Amino acid sequence: MSDTIVAPVRPAFANFVGGEWAPSTTGRTYEKRNPARPSEVVGEFPASGAEDVERAVAAALGAFPAWSRTPAAGRAAVLLRTAEAIDARVEEIAQDMTREMGKPLREARLEAARAAAILRFAAGEAWRPVGELYQQSATGAPVYTVRRALGVVALITPWNFPAAIPIWKLAPALVYGNTVVIKLAQEAPLTGLHLAECFEQAGLPGGVLNVVIGRGSEVGTPLVRHPDVRAISFTGSVPVGHEVRDEATRLGKRVQLELGGHNPLIVMADAKLERAVEAAYAGAFWSAGQKCTATRRIYVEDAVYEDFRARFLDRIERGKVGDPADPETEVGPIVNERQLDEITEAIEQSRREGATLLAGGERLDEEAYLLAPTVFEGVADDALLSCEEVFGPVTSLYRFSTLDEALERANAVRFGLSASIFTTSLETTQRFVNELEAGLLHVNSQTAGADIHVPFGGIKSSGFGPHEQGRAAIEFYTELVTVYQDGP
Ligand code: NAD
Repeated sequence: MSDTIVAPVRPAFANFVGGEWAPSTTGRTYEKRNPARPSEVVGEFPASGAEDVERAVAAALGAFPAWSRTPAAGRAAVLLRTAEAIDARVEEIAQDMTREMGKPLREARLEAARAAAILRFAAGEAWRPVGELYQQSATGAPVYTVRRALGVVALITPWNFPAAIPIWKLAPALVYGNTVVIKLAQEAPLTGLHLAECFEQAGLPGGVLNVVIGRGSEVGTPLVRHPDVRAISFTGSVPVGHEVRDEATRLGKRVQLELGGHNPLIVMADAKLERAVEAAYAGAFWSAGQKCTATRRIYVEDAVYEDFRARFLDRIERGKVGDPADPETEVGPIVNERQLDEITEAIEQSRREGATLLAGGERLDEEAYLLAPTVFEGVADDALLSCEEVFGPVTSLYRFSTLDEALERANAVRFGLSASIFTTSLETTQRFVNELEAGLLHVNSQTAGADIHVPFGGIKSSGFGPHEQGRAAIEFYTELVTVYQDGP
């Protein structure tokens, strides 16, 4: 990554503050390269700093009174027009997403389209209740609750869902009347800038949404610490998330975290095996395993272990790995060289520790950051791959004898984001639903995938604060006030 003197900036490669597109006040930029063709520079983006944060927060604070007083239906109208603007450029957003962070085009298209659907769902919230009416005990006069906007909210997002995650934070933040400063991930700013352009096109008043691009330490930290920021919604890794939480709570701010996972998939002997194999493949390898909900551990019951393993390895043989811009590609590159090196090191360490490599393990291209879908077996329960999130196309197979054992081992990590089970037994399903320690449970479907209208979030070390998405989002983006209203 190189810091260079700022060149004339195309609008889409700048910060968006107070309704204006502008380069960073630092005068610095950085190059973002295509992980499938690292010689190709996707763009030069602002390497922003504390002064940019200062301006963005001031703009959001200035815009708050008018935006929060705008009728909710008026705010929703802007969200609906933004959804239309996104619809009109889904292909462009998807192509740029693929170029900047390597998500295969077929998934990038779905994600871009999903951003519009999320906005439409959130817009509908404008017509739903924001309080409850009671009678006061002594007089019978009204006493009611009302949910009010918080003020300026900071959103900090990762690179791996560069459309869906910014939008599933922005949509509820805005519809409930907050104004926003969003810090996009350095590895995928262009997708977020498209979204900001769509809001601008939809007539969102200047200052309601402010976008700042730059490093965590240079933009994220001042944003979290800024006295005018009331709340922070963060999605990213566990260590950074915990740092953000500690700082935010020390300063008395509201904070919500969506963090990493170490998601198990359990295959019972009574499962429809072919469906389980497909789900394991998609969960472990689509987006090159760079999903918080990717399948990291696959527990297979003794009686079907050999059969499952043979079918899974066969599916990997038939998988399409390569150029993410090819709409047929299932598994594309790793986002950057540093991540590629980290994953390669984890693979090497696992081999040194005695795990058996069943598939993959090697880089597939001299230029592209492409790793073969990788499967281990014989990984100890306390080994790195069984416990820590290795953010790539790497998964492990484990054999188990009883459901008790499977549930216990599946729960033996500090994470609790997503989990799935394949079974045809109602009793087994019930035990999984009651005992598996994760915020998202899938019965006969893959660990990844999230619907737009239901809560999304992890438990244990995978999350903190109220869940995101669906109607749950109101909890974080509003404050509850109780009003005793007596007559004059
Ligand atoms: P990351 O934690 O490195 O970065 C996330 C964001 O935080 C980025 O914008 C980054 O610039 C910023 N940041 C870094 N240091 C900061 C600091 N000190 N203060 C404030 N902000 C700071 O994560 P990543 O590599 O971008 O994303 C991958 C991680 O995100 C994985 O662990 C993945 O599991 C997780 N993730 C979780 C979910 C979920 O919903 N649970 C969804 C997607 C990704």
